[in-house]
Amino acid sequence: MIETLPDAHGHFGVYGGMFVPETLMTALHELAAEYERAKGDPHFQNQLAQLLRDFAGRPTPLYFAERLTKKLGGTKIYLKREDLLHTGAHKINNALGQILLAQRMGKHRIIAETGAGQHGVATATVAARFGCECIIYMGAVDMERQALNVARMQFLGAKVVTVSAGQATLKEAISEAMRDWVTNVRTTHYILGSALGSHPYPMMVRDFQRVIGEETKAQILEREKRLPDLLVACVGGGSNAIGLFHPFLNDANVRMVGVEAGGEGIRSGKHAARFQGGRLGVLQGTKTFLLANEDGQIELTHSVSAGLDYAAVGPEHSYLHEIGRVEYDFATDNEALAGFKLLSETEGIIPALETAHAVAHIAKVAPKMSGDQIIVMNCSGRGDKDVAMAARHLLSSS
Ligand SMILES: *Cc1c(COP(=O)(O)O)cnc(C)c1O
Repeated sequence: MIETLPDAHGHFGVYGGMFVPETLMTALHELAAEYERAKGDPHFQNQLAQLLRDFAGRPTPLYFAERLTKKLGGTKIYLKREDLLHTGAHKINNALGQILLAQRMGKHRIIAETGAGQHGVATATVAARFGCECIIYMGAVDMERQALNVARMQFLGAKVVTVSAGQATLKEAISEAMRDWVTNVRTTHYILGSALGSHPYPMMVRDFQRVIGEETKAQILEREKRLPDLLVACVGGGSNAIGLFHPFLNDANVRMVGVEAGGEGIRSGKHAARFQGGRLGVLQGTKTFLLANEDGQIELTHSVSAGLDYAAVGPEHSYLHEIGRVEYDFATDNEALAGFKLLSETEGIIPALETAHAVAHIAKVAPKMSGDQIIVMNCSGRGDKDVAMAARHLLSSS
């Protein structure tokens, strides 16, 4: 049974674990223990279910994309509409779960990192909802790419701290958040935004995102009376993908594909496709596939979407890749931009550029499948935050 991982120390096979400074070990053990208690506590589960329903807007629809289906040759395409959630992406599922844990631990100062800004917005949102102080670390480059989300976080009362070190994107923002946590660990909870980092985060974030796959399973069974043939999701750290995939792992006839950022192409070296030429290493708390040179130095990444350009992938994905249960493909910037246009024009849904990578994959594979097959794609977020970036590439007047 694949579903029972990780082990007690956070290992998915050889991946995962707890590679952090000694000063954080106590906090991580405390978090893992509190999470175990909360998991078995009906009060916590009810509180979370109620917030997911009334505050975030769950369940999200499973939408039959009729025109996209026709356009791509007839294989039925369904979209799991996480883009319809409050704040515009799946990130709120995890942020709500973790803020409730922080409350239980008596920690009222909240910190987080953000890349595209979606996790920062989700965290600032739940911090405002619970009256917590909130500090968001964000790379200077991402702040420029995602100015709309920076303003949203500020309106929500969060302090956004600019991180200018290194590549000034997500990796550096995580490092700064970890430094803050080491210093303020007694009063502070770190709401990590993806299925990444040290145990218990990859497991905990996955569990909070599993609601995506659980709902999808019930919805497709009701609608089609059978399971889908293929699940597709984009993979940054991997939280929306593992959330969709996990409840289906033991359903042997369901294929799954995670789509990474191919950037300007794998040969260009400007990409973030960890399973294309990546190697085993340790980064920011976990052992996993990452982009590094032969000396182990982390390489620069590139993607048109700020949410997919992290150098490491969540450790459970490395495991699922190794055992062959999930396949990993990539879409280039140009393919993602074409996917962005395709979904907007055929379905009236403007997706996030991250999500557009999954659309690009479907555009490739659906025409080769047969008309009686079913694809479910996770529509991880909406594209409002990416309008300026997409306009620069797609609208000639901009
Ligand atoms: C953050 C984000 C992603 C990438 O993160 P995962 O943890 O891989 O899901 C994908 N889509 C959207 C809309 C996001 O905001």
